[in-house]
Amino acid sequence: MSENIALMTQGLTKSYGKVRALRGVDLEVQRGEIFGFLGPNGAGKTTTIRCLLDLIRPDGGTVRVLGIDPQADPVEVRRRTGYLPGEMQLDPNMTVEGALRYFNALRGNKVDWGFVRQLAARLDLDLKPAIKNLSHGNKQKVGVVQALMHHPELLLLDEPTLGLDPLMQQEVLRLIIEAKANGATIFFSSHIMSEVEAVAERVAIIRKGIVVEVAEPVSLINRALHRARIRFKQPVDVSPLTNVPGVTVLSHDDGTSVLLQVEGEMDGLIKALAAFPVSDFETERPSLEEIFLAYYEGDQKEG
Ligand code: ATP
Repeated sequence: MSENIALMTQGLTKSYGKVRALRGVDLEVQRGEIFGFLGPNGAGKTTTIRCLLDLIRPDGGTVRVLGIDPQADPVEVRRRTGYLPGEMQLDPNMTVEGALRYFNALRGNKVDWGFVRQLAARLDLDLKPAIKNLSHGNKQKVGVVQALMHHPELLLLDEPTLGLDPLMQQEVLRLIIEAKANGATIFFSSHIMSEVEAVAERVAIIRKGIVVEVAEPVSLINRALHRARIRFKQPVDVSPLTNVPGVTVLSHDDGTSVLLQVEGEMDGLIKALAAFPVSDFETERPSLEEIFLAYYEGDQKEG
């Protein structure tokens, strides 16, 4: 395996009884990359991540994490990674500090405690309370701190912002970007498109246990439909715009404004608008969510 590949899976399969959770997952994440793993509930994200750490055994396929086969050396893989599970299991009677010291002990007491305090402060996490008295969001913060505190080479984060308020979500995304700046690779699952769009360099979309697309978020956006709202200085006849390839009129109010759907590039539309008295031109980028939904159309009918 190339030195530049932080993790890869080939033909990964896993069934739970009759449920075929993974049906041949192929992934390749480069070192130093922030890679988003997208899919709705039940698509197979958690199962994939658990196979990467040998927390569950796949039925078939190949896995390499930092060049290591996790089934052959799970301890080495876990030593060099930071893992935030979807549902963090913590001893309810420990304090936050006690739980973090426990993780530190598991990692050979090498963690810089100043960094732990810094992480906790940035996430507004008090170290004194008992785990049992924490809200869901604060438990999630403990999970984020323990995943990051030993400066791992690889972060495997299952829904890292789950249950956090918007300010804290932003802070976690900043921590992810900083970890990358310090040389880490980040692989994180999500079903929130906006956060993936904000930080991921590439994304994989998983659908029913198969990776159906790997792309840069921006290229998914460019491929999708855009909307454009144009305001005119005086009422105009917009019918010439309907002749521009890829342009559809969605609504046309009193002649002074029009809402268009544009497929592909804006160039043709912009050139056609030169003949109009335009006072304002606004475009709406499709969210990754809208793009992503296209991959799942028809799933409801299939059940
Ligand atoms: P979510 O966003 O809800 O966490 P996910 O993409 O992480 O979803 P998985 O948790 O990997 O999806 O689940 C994939 C499929 O496997 C689902 O159909 C799920 O119900 C099933 N599954 C997961 N874990 C088990 C288990 N321990 N026993 C039986 N079925 C399971």
